[in-house]
Amino acid sequence: MKYISTRGSAPSLGFEGALLAGLASDGGLYVPEAWPTARISGGSYAECAAQITHQFVAEDIPFDVYRKLCEVAYSSFRHPEVAPLVEVAPDHYLLELFHGPTLAFKDVALQLLGRLFDHVLAKRGERVMIVGATSGDTGSAAIDGVKHCDNVDIVILYPRGRVSEVQRRQMTTVDSPNVHCVAIDGTFDDCQDLVKAMFNDEPFRLANNLSAVNSINWARVMAQTVYYFTSLHTLDRQASFSVPTGNFGNVLAGWIAREMGADVHGLIVGSNSNDILTRFFESKEMSMRPVVPTLSPSMDIQVSSNFERLLFEMNGRDGAATKSQLQGFRSAGTFGVSAPQFDRWIAPVFKAHRSSDDETVATMRRVYSETKMLIDPHTAVGLAAAMAHGEAGVPTITLATAHPAKFPDAVEKATGVRPGLPEHLADLFSRPERSTDLANDLAEVERFVASKRRAL
Ligand SMILES: *Cc1c(COP(=O)(O)O)cnc(C)c1O
Repeated sequence: MKYISTRGSAPSLGFEGALLAGLASDGGLYVPEAWPTARISGGSYAECAAQITHQFVAEDIPFDVYRKLCEVAYSSFRHPEVAPLVEVAPDHYLLELFHGPTLAFKDVALQLLGRLFDHVLAKRGERVMIVGATSGDTGSAAIDGVKHCDNVDIVILYPRGRVSEVQRRQMTTVDSPNVHCVAIDGTFDDCQDLVKAMFNDEPFRLANNLSAVNSINWARVMAQTVYYFTSLHTLDRQASFSVPTGNFGNVLAGWIAREMGADVHGLIVGSNSNDILTRFFESKEMSMRPVVPTLSPSMDIQVSSNFERLLFEMNGRDGAATKSQLQGFRSAGTFGVSAPQFDRWIAPVFKAHRSSDDETVATMRRVYSETKMLIDPHTAVGLAAAMAHGEAGVPTITLATAHPAKFPDAVEKATGVRPGLPEHLADLFSRPERSTDLANDLAEVERFVASKRRAL
């Protein structure tokens, strides 16, 4: 299977190439040249993952090797089912995606991605340096995904004093020689600008073999298609999915699973006050606005970067058209789609709902009073959307994207109960931390990164 860019002018690549490149050289995102179909015959989560997604990697990795990588990746989850389905109300289910090492759904993709990187790099005799910026969740999931890798070093920049203590400790207490956390004297945007500047510094990028594992990497989306299939297999009926959405990666995986033959009835997009997608689904127009902080910070985004993959489909896979539309978006801050495009691609599948912080709190409170279950604020945004758009006779599965203990203040505010960390993290607050303070200075950060690169 070959991968092509959504902007039409980068060379097509095989799986290994798309995995290691992340972003295409024309600024686009890689997608398979056609959507295959998939069916599962049951078995463990890892077995199902291998059955569904091996076809995306088959030219580069034999099935038995790939199945082993899936088994190792998902053995890091504390729940034997990996992604269990739990009923919250008649015809309403939660799909718990937070049983991985860092308590958020990003582990599902990043645990596999780390194993894939290491396998592919070992085969090629290469080594990469991953650099990234985090405002909290992604950094810890990325670190945990690569902490065992022989061929990957990782430097994560975070804004000093501006991530929660749980989030910081999940990064700084990982004791692996290839993991380096840097507290930058600045904001999250400063950290992100430093990362972009390192990638734009071509001599530095090439000398250090820089790489990224951000949410536009095809392999992350691929790994996320699996739980749509497994949850439908468990339920044994058609269902709709409600997805708390930021970058559109998770819900896009649901759309792809549907294209691949999963019995997905509809997809409900839940957003917080950063509601660019909900406004798009109401108005056929995407328009940027400044980000406002909310109780569900992992969804506080201005632009949903993975939407580009759906837009490419809506444009009949015309890369040039997609490129000019997105260039217009960058310069004017807005673009629209036509009524026929909307009616063909969006209206039959997608619905959207926005939750204010008050509604998020009310949802957490209501679930606790009715079921004694604690849910995190992101999951609450998804569940509110499911309640708003659920259809009679069609079960709705809400993706539970974080463990409540990851956002204890919001959960306590809503329910009066402070959720405790699961056992494997119970001693998080007594583990030694490793982190380096650096100024918001490109030369200083580049010196640090170069010094941490292990020899091949
Ligand atoms: C990243 C994240 C999301 C948003 O997922 P996208 O794939 O970016 O739409 C939702 N909830 C939590 C807890 C997250 O960490």
